[in-house]
Amino acid sequence: MKLKMPKLHNQILIALLLGALFGSFFKINTHRLVLKYEKEKLLIEEKIEKWSKFVFIKHGETIDSLTYGSDQQLEIIAQFAKFKKNKQKYEVVVFNFFNKEQQKLIEENQYQNVLLIDKEETLAQSIKWLGDIFIRLLNMIAVPLVVASLIVGAASLGDIKKFARIGSKTLSLYIGTTAIAITFGLIAANLVAPGEIMNVETKEKLMSVYDSDVSSRLENEVGFSISNMLVELVPKNPFGAIASSEMLQIVFFSVMLGMVLTLIKKEKAEPVINFFDGLSDVMIKLVDIVMLIAPIGVFALIAATVSEFGFDILQTLIWYSLTLIGGLLLHTFGTYSLLLKVFSKIKVIDFFKAIRRVQVIGFTTSSSVATLPVNMEVCHESLGISKSLTSFVLPLGATINMDGTAMYQGVAAIFIAQVFGIDLNIGQQLTIILTAVLASIGTAPVPGVGIIMLIIILKAVGIPQEGIALIMGVDRILDMCRTATNVTGDAAVCCVVASSENEIGKINLDN
Ligand code: ASP
Repeated sequence: MKLKMPKLHNQILIALLLGALFGSFFKINTHRLVLKYEKEKLLIEEKIEKWSKFVFIKHGETIDSLTYGSDQQLEIIAQFAKFKKNKQKYEVVVFNFFNKEQQKLIEENQYQNVLLIDKEETLAQSIKWLGDIFIRLLNMIAVPLVVASLIVGAASLGDIKKFARIGSKTLSLYIGTTAIAITFGLIAANLVAPGEIMNVETKEKLMSVYDSDVSSRLENEVGFSISNMLVELVPKNPFGAIASSEMLQIVFFSVMLGMVLTLIKKEKAEPVINFFDGLSDVMIKLVDIVMLIAPIGVFALIAATVSEFGFDILQTLIWYSLTLIGGLLLHTFGTYSLLLKVFSKIKVIDFFKAIRRVQVIGFTTSSSVATLPVNMEVCHESLGISKSLTSFVLPLGATINMDGTAMYQGVAAIFIAQVFGIDLNIGQQLTIILTAVLASIGTAPVPGVGIIMLIIILKAVGIPQEGIALIMGVDRILDMCRTATNVTGDAAVCCVVASSENEIGKINLDN
């Protein structure tokens, strides 16, 4: 019997499952630390395992708050990172007791000039570079693809009237679905009240492990206002915007250029449009080629993430995580299905069949912009949406439409307020909805930015910003989930706009 190779989207799904299994098999050992220190001008690396007590000593003095038990690997690493940041030097003493109750010492090791204390890399993490190459390839395609396709897309809309019609439909759908997403998030967070269930020890543990991460993020905090956002929309130098992947500015410049191409003489405009049309085709072809290694990339990325964070990290914040994941599932499979059923000619089942590849890539890369090339390819080739629409609606969506991120920001804000015992009134919750819509528009479509924009929302309603320490540990995994929702939202809106414009051709679910 001849074995048939599964189709690409099935290969990617299989890679996701195998990668998660592989990652949980080669999980980071939480009872092991790697220590690098200098001794007689030599750099020595040592593994420490099963310590009973781990102590940082300053000038020969043991301080209680710097003494850690056998299950405090993360706290030890975080404390060392703080010392390193403040350029403080501490001696490290590791004790190993034979009998913990009677504290019979069997071993005591002292280390001076310690340069690094970290977790030990596992096999699953050592293959992460394969995933990094995959993400870089997608990012490499994304910027030229957005520029070329938006220019052609805007130019092919033909006239300003059509452009304004499609633009306003797209924008209102994006903003409307985002507002629905946050409202769901707020309702769920108020009903489940995950912050009220959290115990004080977990709160203190999380605050101490992640407080240095929080202060470094707060240092980078940016001012945020609508006028500022509008000013930032306009690039001073389009090439600078392209070089630094400033997506909103790239979108602004490309749309302007495309529109103005319709206002100049045809014989002048045509070679420019043809050039960008060719470039966009080349980029789409490149996506096909890069997708051949998608199963490897997906496998490596998910294996490394699961091995580092594990799904058990979700347990510490189980109610918060479940509230958000439940909300994301409801929005992804409920709101979008309803939207498609009522306003689109594409069958809901066909949509989800075609889109699963996009969802898996969004989930594993945690980046809407890295997923954009795949989303454009799937919407055009599998769902049959015209290229001029996918070229316009999807890059805009990848940049400004983040339903998952907005819902996450809403749930997180309520959760943190609950943990800190702050009661939010209706006015404050409405402020959260408004700021989360704006913040999600301003969130860059790359991993981990949602949590930075959350700081703005917390500030707007007076919730302590240090509270993000509580959710930092699970952020990576939840970023994956919210990105899958973000990219599904872009595609769903694209289907609705395409249906209303009659820009849908034949569906082809075979590739
Ligand atoms: N990773 C998200 C995205 O790219 C943004 C975020 O929520 O951090 O869509």
